[in-house]
Amino acid sequence: MRTLTLNERVTLLKSFVNGGRFLKQSPYWAPERMRDWQFARIQKLVTHAMKEIPFYRAHYGAASFELGDLKSWDDFHRLPLVTKDDVIQHFPEGMLKKGANLDDLIVSRSSGSSGKVLDVCYDSQAMITFMLAGLRLYRMGFRYGPLHRQLYIYTSPYPLSSVFGLFPMHFVSTLEEVDKIAAKIEAIRPELLVCYPSHLKQIAPLLSKRATSRLRCISVNSEMSTQAERDAISERWGCPVLDEYSSEELTRIAAQCTCGKYHVFEDINYMETLPPEPGSNLGVLVGTQLHNFAMPMIRYVQNDLGELQSSVCDCGWRFRQLINLQGRKNDSFLMPSGREISSGFLLDATYDILLEWREAVLDFCLIQTGGDQVKLQVVKGSGWSDRIAEEIKQRFNGYFKNEVRFWIEGVEICEKTRSGKRNPILRRIK
Ligand SMILES: [Zn+2]
Repeated sequence: MRTLTLNERVTLLKSFVNGGRFLKQSPYWAPERMRDWQFARIQKLVTHAMKEIPFYRAHYGAASFELGDLKSWDDFHRLPLVTKDDVIQHFPEGMLKKGANLDDLIVSRSSGSSGKVLDVCYDSQAMITFMLAGLRLYRMGFRYGPLHRQLYIYTSPYPLSSVFGLFPMHFVSTLEEVDKIAAKIEAIRPELLVCYPSHLKQIAPLLSKRATSRLRCISVNSEMSTQAERDAISERWGCPVLDEYSSEELTRIAAQCTCGKYHVFEDINYMETLPPEPGSNLGVLVGTQLHNFAMPMIRYVQNDLGELQSSVCDCGWRFRQLINLQGRKNDSFLMPSGREISSGFLLDATYDILLEWREAVLDFCLIQTGGDQVKLQVVKGSGWSDRIAEEIKQRFNGYFKNEVRFWIEGVEICEKTRSGKRNPILRRIK
């Protein structure tokens, strides 16, 4: 992501000073009021998408849906869905307004759960809303103040490292060695730690009491963790450990409050679930991003499973709750030494390759084929060379500490899971 311009920072600061009033009040709105607000927003968004975004014009045109046809929630729920492959296939020309300048937008690149690079562009106004929503999210855990230090372990830095010195944010790459990450926590002694649950488990034994003495809240994301795992860390360090559910496409989707419930951020996305399979209550989550007009995500298939429920929560928020969230389930690898390498780490490691050698690697799948064997399937592009193959090998041998035999296999199409889904990280052993 690019960093924010001075103008954007000033707007962000003003929004902070105003306290992001809307985001402060909307969690307490009655559900009917929220539904009305969402619908008005959706009408605006769909009209914009049909007028300005070539993909949506064609996509809705093919379904004989015309401008002005969106009059009720039923109409909306009849709109055709949008998948990750649609977005990848039509980016950038089809997904952005004609004449949009990529330099004016904030671009987030990720591999997501598919083996291809997914770019998502946000306009700066939307980005500011997402940042404020992030601030609110951390305030669900503690009274996050402007002098508190945040340390976040993530794939890439945020577009800013503080707001004119306030809310300082320190970044560490997920690909760093665990002891280096622990050393950074020792040095910074953050009040807020944001990381993958797998990192938390690995770092915990390495940290001194002093390093965690100022911790007020830990926010985990991207991978599945159980409530029991989070409770254990929470007890050990004496601060809440809360799970957040988000994606590059929809940004902030839901997060846990200190009561342990996942609240859907209704003022950021409109979430729905597709009808579940017989015998199950779980439906595929589908989201509509309500702020990002630069690259609209309307009825976007998020591909995780869950259930949405209206109920009251002791924290006072009236947003619907997400229950039984099941997703983010990629395989982790087990090394001969017993060391587990998390799916989050493996995803970031492969994502690094995609970004660095975009022309060379069109698609990939990393597969542990045996206790001591890992292969990387690659669909080679025009930029592929022996030198790149050698660099990739060196990098993975480093990650695996030479515990396994690692090799690259050129393929036409990458392997799929047994259920026929794409998954960039597979473990084929028991
Ligand atoms: Zn709550």
